[in-house]
Amino acid sequence: MQRPLVILVAALAIPALPPAQVDSVKAPDPIPPLVARLDLERYKATIKGLTAFGDRRQGTDRNRAAVEWIEAQLRSYGCSDVSRLKYDFQPNSPSPEGRGGQGVRPARDTTRASGGSRYRGIRARTGVNTDSLKQPDARVRALDAQASTAGAREEVYCTKIGATHPKEMYIVGAHMDGIGWGEAANDDGSGTALVMELARVFSSADVRTDRSIRFILWNNEETGLNGSRAYVAQRRALQGSKQEPKWLGMIQHDMMLFDHGMPRADGTLAATQRPEADVNIEFQTSSKFAVQAQQLAWVFQVANEKYATDYPASVGSHMTNTDSAPFQDYVPAISLRENERGTQIGAGWDPNWHQPTDLYATYDDADFRLGLNAAQTTLAALAGLVGATTR
Ligand SMILES: [Zn+2]
Repeated sequence: MQRPLVILVAALAIPALPPAQVDSVKAPDPIPPLVARLDLERYKATIKGLTAFGDRRQGTDRNRAAVEWIEAQLRSYGCSDVSRLKYDFQPNSPSPEGRGGQGVRPARDTTRASGGSRYRGIRARTGVNTDSLKQPDARVRALDAQASTAGAREEVYCTKIGATHPKEMYIVGAHMDGIGWGEAANDDGSGTALVMELARVFSSADVRTDRSIRFILWNNEETGLNGSRAYVAQRRALQGSKQEPKWLGMIQHDMMLFDHGMPRADGTLAATQRPEADVNIEFQTSSKFAVQAQQLAWVFQVANEKYATDYPASVGSHMTNTDSAPFQDYVPAISLRENERGTQIGAGWDPNWHQPTDLYATYDDADFRLGLNAAQTTLAALAGLVGATTR
């Protein structure tokens, strides 16, 4: 009902009014009430729901069960345009481009981090736990016991259809698979839950968007971005056809909870979230769409400043090792994280990364709140980009 009023006002009154009065008759900003539909307890509950499937390692029954659960949740939110991408995964034929697909990984220079960034300060050990006995909780150990087998894979997505430009869409993603003999609560239950919560808000019957949004939960990220690579390989050339809207941008979310700062000299970390914790928005400066991706990153930073409740956002230029990488030379692509992937995660800023300690119980509300602020950031930025309004 607001639109006819705005048009009427614009046609009749605005030319004669000074700017201050123009502002006073504008429709209210539709974004704050949308952001208010995100909630810490709901976000936590969605992460907790994902941890019921343990680490959700690709190629296992628990991974397939998690895909089913995610799909059921998306349908329950009203995101009814649900589909699955199907592909085959053979672990012995890795991508020739390597894990990050950046081409920026000079060997033997120990100051160079993944994605082209430079390490500073103290670094702690990182790695992937492959030892089941390092998981002290017998319940979690049993949950994660089944080994992965090669073969058919599926990943689920749903789409909010735009009202005026349905054939143009933003892709909003996170990976639902994990590793390390924990519950993959942070990596990447936190990103998966963020995308699911956004699907819930945008799918509400009273929310209208001009452009479309695809919410997708990648599989096989941990084996080398195979799920997102499969999507790009199968669907890039279909853009503009009936099967696939044109891609306007790709926004990835990976590890959203933990920003306790740099390791101390003895390799230990602070026990609690640092008060200056931030959401790290990264683009890749070596990508073909670096200029547009940087612009997109700043749109997110501005949205954070305006709408996120607790934690600020920073922009960095070395996006790497996540599912936005396969998109970065075809469309503006960014990632949101708890820390910069290259210089911070790569330097041991997250001691739970790929470890048995990546459990729901490891994190407290200050940690979960960082993820919620990332959700507020993406929701607000996207709402502006797709022209969201509530009826
Ligand atoms: Zn991850």
